[in-house]
Order: sequence, then structure tokens, then C-alpha cells
Amino acid sequence: MQWLFDHEGRKYLDLFGGIVTVSVGHCHPKVVSALQDQIHTLWHTTNIYRHPKIYEYVEKLVAKMPGDLKVVYLVNSGSEANDLAVLLAKAYTGNHDVISLQNSYHGDSTALMGLTATQSYRMPMPVPPGFYHAMLPDPFRGIWGGCRDSLSQVPGSCSCPGDCVTSDKYIHQLNELLENSVPAGQVAAFFAESIQGVNGAVQFPKGYLKKAQELVKTKYGGIFISDEVQTGFGRTGDAFWGFENHGIIPDIVTMAKGIGNGFPLAAVVTTKEIAAAHTRATYFNTFGGNPLAACVGKAVLETIEEDHLQENCKVLGKYFIEQLMDLQKVHPLIGDVRGKGLMLGLELVVPGTKQALKVADVSTIHEDIKDHGILIGRGGRYNNVLRIKPPMCINKEDVEFTISVLDETLKNFLN
Ligand code: PMP
Repeated sequence: MQWLFDHEGRKYLDLFGGIVTVSVGHCHPKVVSALQDQIHTLWHTTNIYRHPKIYEYVEKLVAKMPGDLKVVYLVNSGSEANDLAVLLAKAYTGNHDVISLQNSYHGDSTALMGLTATQSYRMPMPVPPGFYHAMLPDPFRGIWGGCRDSLSQVPGSCSCPGDCVTSDKYIHQLNELLENSVPAGQVAAFFAESIQGVNGAVQFPKGYLKKAQELVKTKYGGIFISDEVQTGFGRTGDAFWGFENHGIIPDIVTMAKGIGNGFPLAAVVTTKEIAAAHTRATYFNTFGGNPLAACVGKAVLETIEEDHLQENCKVLGKYFIEQLMDLQKVHPLIGDVRGKGLMLGLELVVPGTKQALKVADVSTIHEDIKDHGILIGRGGRYNNVLRIKPPMCINKEDVEFTISVLDETLKNFLN
């Protein structure tokens, strides 16, 4: 279900799913009954004694992974997953430096304060040593702007015959950073989402991620970690994992949020070779791989298949973005419409410019949308992007309702 009710019984269309977490819908009956069944049997043993349900789940999860990504670590949150991924990359490569993209969000543990580049989410402290932030290949705000990922649903957005030419410029910048700031051959990992989530559905020019992976691997000895915390589990529509839209197979994939539909569950998936590098210290996590979480995770995976939710993301995402682009034609407050599947962003600007609309003005619009019965997310470097990442079960009427509410609230703002 995509509806929420407040304490007075008011109904809201949930377009943010508890921050991209409610993947198959609130209280989906299959997930509820999987949890209820297990609650009466066994809650917890730690991974000292592994429950058969955990194996059943992990087998199903591994079947969704391409290539040699066959080893699964179950943890409880995206931050834990990314922490472990950094650790694995360092153990495997023997290197220490980790690269992420500007304005990225990868978690808020002390270690990840280096990886998370968004200032507003970092503690007021310098970037810890060994972490570097590469220039963000942002087609809307980046210095080479213009050209977008031709794999996105934005029609005719990229006219480059092969890989987008702007991707080469950003790769050149990445190389400059690595050559000048990071001791050669010292990179442990390049870390990225396939579409930036917290930063407001920023997509990269076609070819960028693939070339970044190659550059970091061949010249600097580092591996590629794909943070699928928001983009995974079919949300982008065309693919089950966001990285598949870029024709790449990462060395490590991290996942959380939608994996458990709101139940604490997250995972790191990697190859046997990389996992083998971690043998000098046992990885221990008291709650990771808890039988309750495993049952929920399995029910979520099955529901995505049975309810055809990836397909729904594809079809409705395309419809949604077309409708939003039509809205943009009549509302110059909308500077950019972007995203893929049901991971969309609407960037609000001062009409006729790329200047971000003032935070207080965005808040006014945001509140008005809520008053009209829709919960929508916010994000972006300037907190001016409306983020649409609903439960993957929304329907065409929900899209039409959203478009009419956006139309009205943007008009209200100008009047
Ligand atoms: N990676 C990404 C892309 C995220 O969006 C988030 C959470 N917003 C995290 C990691 C951290 O996940 P958690 O809050 O579960 O620790």
C-alpha cells in the first residue's frame, strides 16, 4: 500500500516511502505474514548458529547478482554495509585511499564521514585523511552541463553517438585528482551510486561509471564499489540493480533500505576472491542475518517478482517523467526533471535561471504539497530538489493525482 494516515485519520499518498525504504508497499500482507510466522519460531541466534532461513534467503539474493558476486554479508543498515565494503576493499587491495563523488551520501558512521561528501550531513570536521571527492559529473549543475545519460528516460537527452563526450572530461578530472593528490597505485576503492539519491536523482553521462571503474582498476589498483542502497531492487525499472544500466559489474555491491521494506536489514555482496582477503580477522555482527530479517528479505524479493514491481517502476517511471516534463513546460520554477524508474527528482529554481530556489520558498511549496495530501522528499546540494521515490506499487492514478497537486501548489506559490 502507498497510503499513510496521520493521527487524525488524514490520508496521504506516500511518494517517499520512509526515505526510499518501503519498496513493496506499507504492511504488504506477504511480508507481514513471513514476519509473523518467524516470530513464533525463532528470533535470534547470531551467526554462530545459522538458521536455514538465512541460507534460503541468501541463495535467492545471490541469484539476483551478476558475475562472480556470490559472497553475502548480512548487516543492519546502509552505513554498516558501506563501512564493511571500505574495510574489504582495503584488505583486498592493500591500499588505503578511497574516492567518492562530490555531494554523495554513503552513511554517517565516523569512518564514513570521509566518504559522505555532502557538507550538510558531515560533522563539522575536515575530510579524514585517505578520502577524496571527485568532481561530480552532474549534467545540470556540472561545469560541462548539458549532455545527459542517454540511458535515462529523458527523450533525446544525449546526442553523442557512443559514450557521452562529457563523460571523458570528467574522467580526465578524476585522473588529475588521482595523479596529483593520491599517491600512485594507492587507491583502495572508487565508491559511487549509479544515480545519486540524497543529492536529488543526479544521473551521470553515459560511459562515466564504466570508464571510472576501468581507470581506477588498471592505473591505480582500486576496486569499484556500487552503493545500491537506493537504486537497487528494481527501482530504476530497466534493471534490478542500478549499475546494470551502466553495463558494469562492480567488485562489491552494498544494499539497504528497500531490501527490508522498513525492517532493519542490509547486505554487502562481493566475490570469493575479495572476501578471502578478509580472513585475518573474522567479521562479526550480532544482529546481521537475524532470522526475522532473513524472512522479511526473502518475502520482499519474492513480492518484487510476484507483483511485477520492477516492471511497474519501468512503465510508471516513464509515464511519470513524461508528465513531469510537460509540467516543466508551463512551470519555469521547475529547472530540471530527471531520474529513472521510480527514482525521480524535480529541481526548483528561480525562473529562467539555474539558481536554486531559496530554501524557505521550497519549504513553502513542500508544505503545500503535504497539505494537498502528498508526502514527497527533499534533497540536493541546495535542498531545492523534490524527490519522488514512492513504494514501487503506485499506479497511474497516483501519478495523475501528483501531477495535479504539483500544478496547483506551484501556481499557489506564484499567486
Ligand atoms: N547509502 C545511501 C545511498 C543512502 O542513501 C543512505 C541513507 N540515506 C546510506 C547509504 C546509509 O544508510 P543507513 O541510513 O541505513 O545507514
